[in-house]
Amino acid sequence: MKEVKTPKKPLIYYYGIVLIIIMIFNFLIAPMISRSQVEEVGYGTFMDMIEEGNIGVVEVEDSQILFTDKEETTIYKTSPMEDPTLTQRLHDIGAEFNRVIEEPVSPIWSFLLSFVLPILIFTALGQYMSKKLMEQAGGGKNSLAFGMGKSNAKVYVQSTKGIKFSDVAGEDEAKESLAEVVDYLHNPGKYTEAGASMPKGILLVGPPGTGKTMLAKAVAGEANVPFFSISGSEFVEMFVGMGASKVRDLFRQAKEKAPCIVFIDEIDAIGQKRNSGGSMGGNDEREQTLNQLLTEMDGFEENTGVIILAATNRPESLDPALTRPGRFDRRVPVELPDLKGREAILKVHAKKIKTTEGVDFHAIARMASGASGAELANIINEAALRAVRNGRTIVNQADLEESIEVVIAGYQKKNAILSNKEKLVVSYHEIGHALVAAKQNNSAPVQKITIIPRTSGALGYTMQVDTGDKYLLTKEELENKIATFTGGRAAEEVVFGEVTTGASNDIEQATKLARAMITRYGMNDEFGMVALETVQNQYLGGDASLACSAETQREIDQKVMELVKTQHAKARKILEENRSKLDELAKYLYEKETITGDEFMAILEGGEKE
Ligand code: ADP
Ligand code: ZN
Repeated sequence: MKEVKTPKKPLIYYYGIVLIIIMIFNFLIAPMISRSQVEEVGYGTFMDMIEEGNIGVVEVEDSQILFTDKEETTIYKTSPMEDPTLTQRLHDIGAEFNRVIEEPVSPIWSFLLSFVLPILIFTALGQYMSKKLMEQAGGGKNSLAFGMGKSNAKVYVQSTKGIKFSDVAGEDEAKESLAEVVDYLHNPGKYTEAGASMPKGILLVGPPGTGKTMLAKAVAGEANVPFFSISGSEFVEMFVGMGASKVRDLFRQAKEKAPCIVFIDEIDAIGQKRNSGGSMGGNDEREQTLNQLLTEMDGFEENTGVIILAATNRPESLDPALTRPGRFDRRVPVELPDLKGREAILKVHAKKIKTTEGVDFHAIARMASGASGAELANIINEAALRAVRNGRTIVNQADLEESIEVVIAGYQKKNAILSNKEKLVVSYHEIGHALVAAKQNNSAPVQKITIIPRTSGALGYTMQVDTGDKYLLTKEELENKIATFTGGRAAEEVVFGEVTTGASNDIEQATKLARAMITRYGMNDEFGMVALETVQNQYLGGDASLACSAETQREIDQKVMELVKTQHAKARKILEENRSKLDELAKYLYEKETITGDEFMAILEGGEKE
């Protein structure tokens, strides 16, 4: 059931209505009342009334004479005249002198004092309070509640303070893919002419503090275009209905200023997968905001010069609608920096402080493995603070080393910081994969090996890239793949004689592949070409369902185990035979943390000196 939202009628409407009523009263009704209360008459009428004895109270002043009739129903007013016997005559007819006629305060005034003033005070107070409320809600002076729309809407454009790519240390791959955007913003005509269109949206994916915001700013800085920025969480903290209108506002401003960069930080705050079930009171607000964002993205033409960059550290939680072609269809990984990257980041931030001659940033970077750019910046700052505490203005090596501990203690809990032993195990594990792959025929070449923890939670990563797309795989190639998957664990066994939990993903993949070979690819001689499993839905993860008897099922399990075991043994053998290379490569990876396929091959093919 959907909640019916009563639209917030701006308070000012009510105030307005009250004000109009007051005005009508003031100008039309009040004068009539006032006229009926004090009647101005000529002196003649006054004299006539005296003669009739029709005077109640009288009050003679220099400038006017106020009097009432006998029944005191009406107050009269007249101007005094030369009349020496007036007092005597009034006395004779028994008029009262010794009471003060209260000249009624003009009803307009009394009305103003008793009604309008309080209302004005309340209005002012109300306005003030609402404004305070809005500010607290983070809306700045966005004035939807007052129905004044965009006249004083928030401006999202931000100064990039001339941030350039050179200010972002490391992250070369990310910079490379973003350089194209900069080029496009410089010269969109070139792209239009070639019929090429820039992606509208680019997703920067990586852990917090790796410089995603910085990179986005650097793109704007390099291209010298305006930088619009908003955080996803800012959208949802707003009042009902504000998120969508903010999106609209943001894009309207952006389109006016094109070419420009729009940066949406923490996009997962609004872009989370929508739950397929009925929205039980759910997050309608977030959904509306997301829908508005999608509408806006679809709404503007390609090559309008508005490029949307968004950052997230949870790409898997994003709604698929966001990552469809024409929306955020390009992904730029911004991973934690490796040793070289960390050193570079430390040096960039160290420019802001004074250090003693010959400070060893390499050593600091080595100690801070797993730290993000933001944490490294923090290390430098902590070091400077420590120096000040000790009465110095120049930072020395001890300050830096000390501050690593301060900062690392902070993040050790949340981040996977590897101990040296763990790092060594992961190094051997990854080299195990790579070496097994390299020593078999028809294996895809190794592209990159790293022991920098990934966003996905993996502690290391060996990237293989097939030369050219492959659609057909031979049985041998598949077996080799399985052997490669088992290579990580095999290396741990060969070198350390014990196993770790680090191979869980490998095991899963190897099993899946082995199973598919038997049940779907007909690669087992005994079963032959019988489909033992059918894939249910290729696009939803490809869950397979069994299509055979329980007995066959048991046999399949048996065969899968055998297959993996055979390949595992093969991998072990390869590693044992190449033990010296394994050691050499693992040590190299341990030192460098990230190595390229070329470096790997160079060592592998290098002479067997050691
Ligand atoms: P993210 O948006 O990925 O969470 P930020 O871009 O906000 O990270 O980075 C936070 C801070 O960390 C930056 O202001 C900068 O001082 C520092 N930083 C992060 N990565 C780098 C880097 N690669 N080079 C230099 N400084 C960095
Ligand atoms: Zn592995």
